[in-house]
Amino acid sequence: MLAGASGAELGELLAELDAVASSASAARVSVAVEAVRRGEVAGSGVHGWVREHAPSLRQGGAGPVSRVAIEVATAGSRSDDGKGPAEGSPLGIVWDAVREGRVEAGTGCLVLRESARLAPLLRPETVPTVTSALVDLVTAWGPTLMRRLRPRLLADHGHHGALDDLQQRLAGAARLSMPHVESADLTEYQLWMTPEQAATLEAAIGPLSAPQPNDETGEADLRPAGQRRVEALTQVCAVASGTESLEDAGSPATLHVTIPLSDMQASTGAGEILGSVATGTLLAPETLRRLACDAAVVLHGLGAAGEPLTLGRLERLFTRPQRRHLWLRDRGCTYPGCSAPAAWARAHHVRHWSDGGPTDVSNAALLCQRHHTTVHRRRLRAQVRRRPDEHGRYVVWDLTDGSYDRASDTAPPGGDAVPTPETAAPAVA
Ligand SMILES: [Zn+2]
Ligand SMILES: [Zn+2]
Repeated sequence: MLAGASGAELGELLAELDAVASSASAARVSVAVEAVRRGEVAGSGVHGWVREHAPSLRQGGAGPVSRVAIEVATAGSRSDDGKGPAEGSPLGIVWDAVREGRVEAGTGCLVLRESARLAPLLRPETVPTVTSALVDLVTAWGPTLMRRLRPRLLADHGHHGALDDLQQRLAGAARLSMPHVESADLTEYQLWMTPEQAATLEAAIGPLSAPQPNDETGEADLRPAGQRRVEALTQVCAVASGTESLEDAGSPATLHVTIPLSDMQASTGAGEILGSVATGTLLAPETLRRLACDAAVVLHGLGAAGEPLTLGRLERLFTRPQRRHLWLRDRGCTYPGCSAPAAWARAHHVRHWSDGGPTDVSNAALLCQRHHTTVHRRRLRAQVRRRPDEHGRYVVWDLTDGSYDRASDTAPPGGDAVPTPETAAPAVA
């Protein structure tokens, strides 16, 4: 019979079956109400009785059916005519919708809970209107949207200041959990924000978390949305904590990391974070080499015998005039096809600082956080030119993986790189 039906007939058939299923599940609740009302079953026994006689609800749904049955039967025994919940009460409105098959018992319970939550904030005469609106919303759009429109309903029907009160209460409940660090694994946070806080966060990370396919190199942006979002958030934090400033030496935003010097140079072992809630978190050596470009990190080296060594922060970091020079020279991230502005970029040591690369503008290239990670991860080398090439670039990247390791370490990066007048000759070993 199905094989002979046309496409249109299949649609009609599905609609008819759906109507039958809705009526059947409405009737199922009515039967349960009747059983409770007659005293066939009561209290905690209702759930088991429903599961016993409606085996399909054992997969889920017996709870809401028995909850609605008990509430409706109890309300009926209290009402004047003994028939059911008072007309116009939240329970009465929801019961009508369940009985008519417009909403499932489970959805009805969600509406009742939402209505009860809103009731103290509403002008009393608007409770029926709001409950009906909740039924309509949940029928048309589902529970998530119903709850999302809570502020709208409060603004329209709430007591004076109800929405303000709600948002104030929300502010008290909003929080960011402490980091939960599993050794060498991802750090987990839980974050609850007020609508205003969430809007601020989304505004800050929104444009930064969009996929960034590279038109020039043709690379697609394959990062999943979650990764793009967390990288955008990290970028916002890095800029907000002023990590490009030298003046923050003692600021709490500074990350202190300890690592044996030999490990740092050989790219082995791991660095360990000190003096923050993330203490003990291990960082891979390649990550450390990248962080060494960064002003917000203080590296505490350990010598061969484990004795602490100060790793020259001042020699490692580009000075304000140097950074200004780079801003003017590079304009923004120097990675091909990237349009991140200079304010978002950091100065990268083209020949890594941990390999003896000098902190000199002729050994520097501005990179946005994302491409800074890329060039360290893929070990890319750039040529820093004294004069711009035909595309106006002073920094020209070799985008083949491992180009850093293939570059001769005895010559300055890029054949024609020379010190700029404002800096001393780089002591490239
Ligand atoms: Zn770097
Ligand atoms: Zn970039």
